[in-house]
Amino acid sequence: MEQTLAIIKPDAVERNLIGQILERIESRGFRIVAMKRALLTLAQAEAFYHVHKERPFFGELTQYMCSGPVVLLTLERENAIAAWRELMGATNPQEAAEGTIRKDFAINLEKNSAHGSDAPDTAAFEIPFFFNKLEIQG
Ligand code: ATP
Ligand code: MG
Repeated sequence: MEQTLAIIKPDAVERNLIGQILERIESRGFRIVAMKRALLTLAQAEAFYHVHKERPFFGELTQYMCSGPVVLLTLERENAIAAWRELMGATNPQEAAEGTIRKDFAINLEKNSAHGSDAPDTAAFEIPFFFNKLEIQG
């Protein structure tokens, strides 16, 4: 079993899409082992996305991520990291496959409705960034 960190981003929370996204997660065989709603501070968004610090979109991305509430999730499944990224679809919704969350819900490249860890070491940083051990229950 593998765990991954998922975020329902502000654009999706604002449009009342939490339920539809959670339904897709559960019906694809993930267990939601931790979940909370939060409004990130700019400092938290900057620390979370530190790998993108040098990218031109870093300022916009971090401001967007704290522009409204998000839903933070830890998902568990076999091959959870790759499976969640497949269910989300490509970063750019115009390139996302049919039936993916970003294809169906994302507004644009930035407001793309969902986040997922991209590798085991990323998940190992991102999950404890938001959840302590008591909050994660399989
Ligand atoms: P995430 O890390 O959020 O799951 P990702 O791994 O598919 O997305 P990354 O390359 O890690 O994509 O980019 C992180 C986020 O930064 C994207 O999801 C998107 O919201 C934003 N982003 C990426 N590229 C751009 C860009 N060129 N312009 C604006 N925003 C961007
Ligand atoms: Mg990423």
